[in-house]
Amino acid sequence: EKFKDGLVKTRDNFSNKINDLVSRYRTVDEDFFEELEEILIQADVGFETVMELVEELKMEVKKRNLKDPGDVQSVISEKLIEIYESGEENLNTLNIQEDALTVILFVGVNGVGKTTTIGKLAHKFKSEGKNVLLAAGDTFRAGAIEQLEVWGERVGVDVIKQAEGSDPAAVMYDAVQAARSRKVDILLCDTAGRLQNKVNLMKELEKIKRVIEREIPGAPHEVLLVLDATTGQNALVQAKTFKEATDVSGIVLSKLDGTAKGGIVLAIRNEMNIPVKFVGLGEKMDDLQVFDPEKYVYGLFS
Ligand code: GDP
Repeated sequence: EKFKDGLVKTRDNFSNKINDLVSRYRTVDEDFFEELEEILIQADVGFETVMELVEELKMEVKKRNLKDPGDVQSVISEKLIEIYESGEENLNTLNIQEDALTVILFVGVNGVGKTTTIGKLAHKFKSEGKNVLLAAGDTFRAGAIEQLEVWGERVGVDVIKQAEGSDPAAVMYDAVQAARSRKVDILLCDTAGRLQNKVNLMKELEKIKRVIEREIPGAPHEVLLVLDATTGQNALVQAKTFKEATDVSGIVLSKLDGTAKGGIVLAIRNEMNIPVKFVGLGEKMDDLQVFDPEKYVYGLFS
């Protein structure tokens, strides 16, 4: 239900246009496909993904000898899911260690919803009975540490921090030691979101990862890139930059509730080959959902 509510803007935008398209055409022809392309591009599905989808759709329509636009509608959902999954299963599962510390690193530019996402995930893990700790690795932005502490208090988990301006790698070292001695299950680490200088960003993230990995072989177990769905194609540009700077294992797409262009989920997966693991659907603690491509795509048409 929550998922459906959060997608209401995208759904209204998308399904109204598709329904309108289907009602105006008697048979499926080139013009129909061109209009469909336009609708998908406007929903931020992304040019490459739209071209791929429409190609596949045309083949399927020919193969099944479909003429009625109404029949094509269900094939659109099938193909969208196929393209998203591209033969892989369980794309949204996290690499969680059983009976050992799991370290998750969060990256992303300022304002995308990184702190909020960490708070929401802390809440989610805590309500699953896990012992959670936060690391205030954004020592650069004024107020970032306090903001994480506000979430820590709200959710009821501790935050490991140092003074503003200190070395984030040192914060991570402290956090790992604290996590060990407190028998923590999940350590969620914030990082600074400076994109102005890719070389610096890369160096900082490498150093953080090196420190964590030296303490816990195999960690960090996930590097989650937080992207703001309302920034549309700009989110794709950020994804490209971060992918070049570090190994991103998954994406959290925040503010999906605030956009009518939720098609960006498909573009990110298809063009970046990084799965979307969670979506943010509001500002509150429980406004985070594991991303389910089938629910998402069928939700667009319901
Ligand atoms: P950060 O700078 O990346 O840490 O971003 P914040 O976590 O401070 O979030 C920036 C703003 O976006 C805040 O006002 C959040 O309440 C808001 N926000 C974060 N996630 C979501 C979401 O999923 N939906 C909505 N509507 N707002 C969100």
